[in-house]
Formats: sequence, C-alpha cells, structure tokens
Amino acid sequence: MSNDQAANFLLRAFLFLVLGLALAACSSRPVLHPQTAISSGELSALQAAYDVQHYTLRLTINPEAQSLSGDVAMEAIASNDLNTIELDLDPRFAISRVELNGNAVDYVSSEGKLLLIGVRIGAGTPFHTRVIYGGNPHIAENAPWQGGFVWSTTESGEHWIATAVQGRGCDLFWPCKDHISDKSDRGADMHITVPDGLVAVMNGALQSESSANGMTTFHWRAINPLSTYHLALNIAPYKKYELSYTGKIAGAPSIPVVFYHVSDETEKVERLIRDDFMQQIAFMEETLGPYPWGNEKIGVVETPHLGMEHQTINAYGNGFEVNESGFDWLIFHEIAHEWFGNLMTQENSRDFWLHEGTASFMDSLYYDKQVGAAAFGSQMWSIYNQIQNCKPIVPEDPSTAMDYFDSNDVYYKGAWSLHTLRWLMGEDAFWSTIRRALYDTADPWSLSYPITPARRSTEDFIAIASDEYGADLNWFFDVYFKQTDLPKLASTRSDTGLSLRWENYPDFPLSIPVHIRTATDTVIISHPADGTVLDLASDATVRIDPDNRILRDFGFRQWCQD
Ligand SMILES: [Zn+2]
Repeated sequence: MSNDQAANFLLRAFLFLVLGLALAACSSRPVLHPQTAISSGELSALQAAYDVQHYTLRLTINPEAQSLSGDVAMEAIASNDLNTIELDLDPRFAISRVELNGNAVDYVSSEGKLLLIGVRIGAGTPFHTRVIYGGNPHIAENAPWQGGFVWSTTESGEHWIATAVQGRGCDLFWPCKDHISDKSDRGADMHITVPDGLVAVMNGALQSESSANGMTTFHWRAINPLSTYHLALNIAPYKKYELSYTGKIAGAPSIPVVFYHVSDETEKVERLIRDDFMQQIAFMEETLGPYPWGNEKIGVVETPHLGMEHQTINAYGNGFEVNESGFDWLIFHEIAHEWFGNLMTQENSRDFWLHEGTASFMDSLYYDKQVGAAAFGSQMWSIYNQIQNCKPIVPEDPSTAMDYFDSNDVYYKGAWSLHTLRWLMGEDAFWSTIRRALYDTADPWSLSYPITPARRSTEDFIAIASDEYGADLNWFFDVYFKQTDLPKLASTRSDTGLSLRWENYPDFPLSIPVHIRTATDTVIISHPADGTVLDLASDATVRIDPDNRILRDFGFRQWCQD
C-alpha cells in the first residue's frame, strides 16, 4: 500500500464514521426510493405521451425545519390520447391536492410515481396540472454526486441552502417529468419564498421581489428551454457582483454577468469574475460560437458543494482556487456546459460524453490557451492516467440510466477521443462538426437570440462528423466509444523499413503520424497501421506519434483497477 493509498484508506474510514453518525442523526428520515434515486433511463409509455411546455414552481422554504411546501404547475401537450398522466415525485412528500385543468382529479402516489388517473385528454390537446405538497426533502449525502438538498451555513452561521439533482432528478423536490428527453420548451417561472434576510437565486432573470409576514418571495423567470435538473434552489444572504459582457453575436448585446456570493473577500470575487471568468467566456465564444442564453444572463452562484452546470446559474464551490495554469478550472468547466449539456443536450443518458467528454476537452484547450503546449500535454497525460477502461463510454442499451457512469471515462477517455478525432479530421472539419452539433449551423454568428437548443445522440454526432469529413466515421466511434479496450499498436523496424499494426483491432483504419529524420531531411507522414511496410533508409530515425495525437494503449498500464 503506497502512502497515497494509506491516506486514502484513512480518509475513507473517517468518512464512513462521519456518514454513520450522520445517518444515525437523521434516522427518522425515509430512505431514498429507488425510483426517485434514478433519473432518465427508459422513458415510460405514459411519459412519452406528453410534451412539457412550461413549469411554474411556488416553493416556500423553511430552513429551521429543513422542509418545503410546494405548489407546482405543469403545462403540457398530449402527443397521444391520455387516460393517466404520469409524473415523478419522491413519495416522502405529503400531497394535499392534485388538479387537472383547474379541477381536482383522482391520483395515486406509488413507487415514486404520481399518477393522475381517470383523465381523458385527446392527442394534440394542451393541458395543465397542479400539485400541492410538502415535507422534508431528501438530504444530499455527497452533493453534487449523490444529490438532493444541501442545508449548510455560512461562516457567520447564516443559512446557506442549495440543491443539486443531476443523476437523481427533479422529483427529489418537485413533481415533474424526470427525463432528459423533455425540456420545458418555454422555460419556467419560479416563485421562491424564504425568511427575510435570505436571497433566493435561480435560473433566468429576476422579475420581482416582495415581502410579507417576515418572508420574501423572489420571482425568477427562465424563458429558454430548460432541462429539469437545471432548476436549482440557491438560498443564502447573497451579495451580488455584476459586470456586463459584450456578446460577439450580431448587435453585440450587453449581457449581464452576475455572481451571487457569500464570501466577503472582494479581491477574490473580483479576481474570479473580472480577471478570470470574463476571459473564459470570451474564449468559449471565440472557439465555439455565441453564448446561448444572452437573452437571460451569464450567472454563477457560490454554493456549499463543488459545482453543477445549472443553466444561467452555475453552482460554484471551488473556494476561489487558482490552478497552476492561472485559472479556476471549476468555473471554466461549468461555463463550458452552457454549450455542452445545456445548448446541446444528450438524446439519452448513454450519450453523456456529449456533455462531459466535450467539456473536459475544452478544459484541456484552455490549458493550451493559458500557458501553451507544455500545460496542454501535462493535462492530457494526467487525464490519460485516469482512464479506467472497464466498459465502453457509450453503452449499447439506449435506456441506460445515469448510474452507468461510475467512472471518469465519459470525461477523460471522451476528451482524448476528441483530441484524436481533431487530428484525423483536421481543424476546419472538426470545428465545423462541433458548431453544427451545438447550433445546427457551422456559422453560429449569423444567429440571433433566442438560440434554439439541439438534442443529440452519439449517432447524430457521428453523422455530422462523417458529413464534414467527407467519409463515414463509424469505424472511429465504434472503437473509441463503443468498445472497452484501447487500440494497441505493434511496430516492427527493420534495416529497410517500418511496419505498424493494430494488435487488437486488425481492421481499424486509423493511420499514425510518423516523424522520419535522415541526415538531410525531416518529414512527417501519416502511415496506415495495417502491416504495410514503409521503406526507409537504414540510417533513418523514426518516431511514432511523438506529439501524442493518437489515443492508444501503450502497454504499461493496468486497466480497470481501483
Ligand atoms: Zn461536468
């Protein structure tokens, strides 16, 4: 056991003890229902039969009792005839009334599902539901990974509350259609009531703020389509730091950049937002295209947990840390998700690399931008060594739930695969692919707000890439995304030549960059790894892929180990 492993063991033992004590302290709370604990997965026939248009949430938060009371409306359109409307809601909540189109309706709360029964709605008909409920929401064990409510306090002892529900879903605290496939097309209105002195911060733009009986209600409105897991409560005695960013889209709109913080360290706040974040946004826009939600805001909120890409109100809890390349990686990662995850959203959970592999690749590019090739190389090597290769990034089963992604491969192997794809396709075709996947056009600067989000599967991405490349690229994605093992290269150098061969994927047509140096010349060529002999002078020096453009198994890592 190495020192690192010993430290890790002790930390785990300590966390286990703390967790045990914490569980004992709240043993009166119900355990999380397995249905509530998962998000997306296979879409039920009942939920496939309607399309959500809009949500209105009225939530009153009682921090002392760690409880909420809610009144949540959903507007939707039936896509098939409906006799039951299926919502998701954590069964721990007590439901006091359920309505359909303004009238009370019979309902059953069972196995994490809330079913409005005995209804008759014809295909194509709009309808709206309302659920009045309340209780103590599930407390996150380890947000944002094992999510739920986070009831924390600031250094001065005031309430600091957040939610993070990616992977488990909106049904942890409000009745919703808990599936990645259905954004609310017209966003959401959120009326959040909290004790005076606290500020509730959410997605979209603040419409009004009103006080009565010691409580303040904040009305936020998001007008762009919104994934339900993005709808996040952030409550604290927040202070606001605001700048404006001039968008690079037509008309150069002035977009508010708002950071809600609990920290009193003005210098750190200014450094993070003014000196770091503003440059990051400009880099994203230059590399990808216009910020997607310039008709709302660019928002960040300081949270007790590490982070999450909540649309227009990204959670930030990285403690104002600047990394060795001079930037805050966490805020960078979350803002990258405004493009990868929020503008372009996965068709299903199996396509999660479209959120995380892409965002991680952007992280590495920012190391390059900030410092140069050494920082880029160092970052790429670091993430290479965190690849596990226990299973494919993209599982075959389209109904895979988020709990499939228990390794970092969707992040790091995803990022490395894109690095190789960029080399294979060349700059223009690669970036046109990325822009078309995001915006549906390779010229996003011709767009204006509102920008329409795209829903993409892995196969959609392959189709766009193949189109830009001018030849089918399924073979590339089959190996890197749909197989477990990395390709392993064998090379044979003789006096007269060099031959390369993919040991474990003999038909894999990916060529390899080879640098050849002789007494008079240095050339870089791309050579197939199919056993073809490359004729070489006996004094030629050869280096295979010296710039590490090709993701492969070097033969000295043990894969799929803890
Ligand atoms: Zn991420």
